[in-house]
Amino acid sequence: MQVLKLDHLGIAVKNLEDAIKIYEDLGLKIQGVEEVKDQRVKVAFIPIGDTEIELLESTSEDGSIAKFIEKNGEGVQHLAFKVENVEEAISYMKEKGYRMIDETPRYGAGKAKIAFIHPKGTKGVLIELSQR
Ligand code: ZN
Repeated sequence: MQVLKLDHLGIAVKNLEDAIKIYEDLGLKIQGVEEVKDQRVKVAFIPIGDTEIELLESTSEDGSIAKFIEKNGEGVQHLAFKVENVEEAISYMKEKGYRMIDETPRYGAGKAKIAFIHPKGTKGVLIELSQR
């Protein structure tokens, strides 16, 4: 497995429009808002140079983003690393003894194939492996 770059930083927010305004005030351009029904989130991507910020608002009270905010407040929720092949990356990490939240990839925003590594094995950091 090879990590190609920091694909994006995922930030949990209570209200997408309020959060978008902050990044627009910073002079950044929003790429568009998308709803990912499977994950019960509304997502906005904001390109910054070679990487992006992903703002995530929960669309349900018991979604993972809602639970994260309840526990930690708003803020950085995950790091996403771009990989060439997410299935290979899952096998590789499992071989190394890491617990995966996703043993098989799911589809994230922008039709990316993604899989999360459990934060228990990564010093509390939720890491997303993403293939676009
Ligand atoms: Zn993400």
